[in-house]
Amino acid sequence: MPSVLRIAIPSLLPTYLDYLPNWQKVQPGMRVKIPLRNKPCIGIVISKAQDTCVPSAKLKPIIQVIDDAAIIPPALLLLLQWMSQYYHYPMSAVLRVTLPRLVRAAKSLPPDTVEMWRVRRNNLSATELPKQATKQHALLEWLGKLEDVDKTLLDMEFKNWRTPLKALENKGLVECRRVQIKIQAPKVSPTLRYRLNDEQQHAVDAILAAADGFSCTLLDGVTGSGKTEVYLELCEHIVKQRKQVLVLVPEIALIMQTVARFRALFGQWVQVFNSSLTDSERLRTWGFALDGTAQVIIGTRSASFLPFKRLGLIIVDEEHDKSYKQLESLRYHARDVSIKRAQLENIPILLGSATPSLETLHNASSTRYKHLRLMHRVGGARMPQFRIIDVRGQWLDGGLSKSLVRMIAARLDKQEQVLLFVNRRGYAPIMLCRQCGAVLECPHCDARLVYHKLINKLVCHHCHSKMALPQQCPECQSQKLEPIGIGTQQIEEKIRTFFPDARVLRIDTDAVHRKGMLSEYLEQIHSRQVDIIVGTQILTKGHHLPALTLTCIVDVDQGLFSVDFRATERLAQLIIQVGGRSGRGDIGGEVVLQTHQPQHPLLHNLLHKGYATVSSQLLKERQQIEMPPYSRLTLLRVKARRLDQNIAFLQAVEKHAKSLVRNTRVRVHPPIAAIMEKKAGYYRAGMLFQAPQASDLTRYIAILIAKIETLSMSKTVNWHFDVDPLEVD
Ligand code: ADP
Ligand code: ZN
Ligand code: ZN
Repeated sequence: MPSVLRIAIPSLLPTYLDYLPNWQKVQPGMRVKIPLRNKPCIGIVISKAQDTCVPSAKLKPIIQVIDDAAIIPPALLLLLQWMSQYYHYPMSAVLRVTLPRLVRAAKSLPPDTVEMWRVRRNNLSATELPKQATKQHALLEWLGKLEDVDKTLLDMEFKNWRTPLKALENKGLVECRRVQIKIQAPKVSPTLRYRLNDEQQHAVDAILAAADGFSCTLLDGVTGSGKTEVYLELCEHIVKQRKQVLVLVPEIALIMQTVARFRALFGQWVQVFNSSLTDSERLRTWGFALDGTAQVIIGTRSASFLPFKRLGLIIVDEEHDKSYKQLESLRYHARDVSIKRAQLENIPILLGSATPSLETLHNASSTRYKHLRLMHRVGGARMPQFRIIDVRGQWLDGGLSKSLVRMIAARLDKQEQVLLFVNRRGYAPIMLCRQCGAVLECPHCDARLVYHKLINKLVCHHCHSKMALPQQCPECQSQKLEPIGIGTQQIEEKIRTFFPDARVLRIDTDAVHRKGMLSEYLEQIHSRQVDIIVGTQILTKGHHLPALTLTCIVDVDQGLFSVDFRATERLAQLIIQVGGRSGRGDIGGEVVLQTHQPQHPLLHNLLHKGYATVSSQLLKERQQIEMPPYSRLTLLRVKARRLDQNIAFLQAVEKHAKSLVRNTRVRVHPPIAAIMEKKAGYYRAGMLFQAPQASDLTRYIAILIAKIETLSMSKTVNWHFDVDPLEVD
């Protein structure tokens, strides 16, 4: 049998293709040009194989080898192959999702240069700028104080800098150069560093002690315990050994503060990788990772697939955050993928959080992970005091109780900042008919419409359709439609009437729809231009807001009665994280929860015993119901225009699923309708598969998928498998 090159084309074509090994130097991980149906196309060499089923007469030669060396290093290639199997996703499609567009398009990696801007030292001057060009003036003044700045620094300091900078360039006041990047030891300025406290030092030592080989460590540190400082110290050690560090964060816009700290230490050797990059910037960062130029790369989940030359450490910050899970196409979890990568690269990985996920805590309690704790806030800051406001029988004005309003007033008197957390954006969650009790619902979804006062429209948060406010109730024709429940807009309005002199800022996805707006707002908060912040989830992630001393979760109850098996875990994390924004400066902070369930054991334990106690109780509950982490799940999701299409498909799948289950440890649950059965005009349903170990499921589901693909019905519905789903809906 001839040996062949097994090649995958980053596309939706689900199979490998075999070609003649007509080039000597070709290695797995290189890009090649191959003929496919007589057209040249780009593929990635996956392996050399002996066992082709293509007859030798039909094997075609490769047209061209594009790279001199692999652009996907061996460990990364193995990782992608593992993902293909584990997530039941064809390798070609894995490549399509994980490789940047220009890498797929066979663009050559740019040389090791970056664009840098600086002021031209000539006799032109700022006086030639029109007075009203304030942005240009500000940029020019700022640039004048620095030698060379690159994009990341500009992003950190200025919103929308491209247009004014271009104008300055055109006027000859600023020049752009491509500067060669060479690896050199980082300049560490001692003034920028804190002395680690004992807990931090112990954590650093413990991780470094296990740094030559795979190890997984949970850094379980309360909010404000200085986890970032531990990361920085570790990075410094690893970089000194000329190895690279990957730092994953849930969302880049939210951690510009952290990026700034890394930059202060490592300068331009820190690269940022997230969705805001242009295609050519992505390609460049890919190149910097591959040739070892980038020492530290901080990125969101897509950075998990960068091709590091000498990766020495992976850090996953806020490991519990659900944005690590990709919710469409390749439904991977960046934390889990990174742990696998650390194994394949044989390096340590650090998972940091103040509220670790139950999965990670479970692993940490076994000998698989190390469990390090930072129990204290740094610099003597105290943990915030938690308090419950029992709102039963109380009149809530726009969702706010009298005692809460008094507490806010007291903080404002002392010129401290207040954060009100609301789960829902919009004005009021629902429109209710006071006459007949009807609730206005979206015609395309099983969901209630949300009233947005600013645009005076009803909005569906699930399919995003907007509708005019009806004059009358569609059921009883009365005119008694009223918004009930609370949303961010309504709280904002109420707060403004209660505290007309206070400076109020609302931060939710409606308010920060423009790029850069969030950091602008954060800056306002930092510079104390804001007294009261009304916000949703966006604000809960990792911010350090020293003047904030009172945070309030306006309505905790929504989270207490959700049907999802992870709901209680999420609520506990939310309360601790929102609370964790409070009292991080010198003044002690307070966290207030408004609830109709003051005796609820979850709240009670969280407040009196803390997250560690609550999470171990939640783990016990999970064990009793045999849910993850005590078992593994894979969910088959189905949607179709007609309900009967779903039913027919799922019945067929169930029949095959049951026949395949023999001699496996897989449990097949009966098909069920999704909690929101109708969404954006589709009927949705699902079927759950459960097994003690992931490996039981991986094998079984692969066989089941092969079977499903032979069913003609599989073309009439949309279906996919979600491995380790975050929500079983
Ligand atoms: P976490 O991420 O654990 O919530 P941060 O890393 O944001 O906490 O740290 C909180 C604050 O304490 C930051 O402003 C940080 O710069 C500061 N800090 C961290 N370590 C020390 C230290 N050893 N001494 C003094 N300040 C520190
Ligand atoms: Zn809808
Ligand atoms: Zn009515």
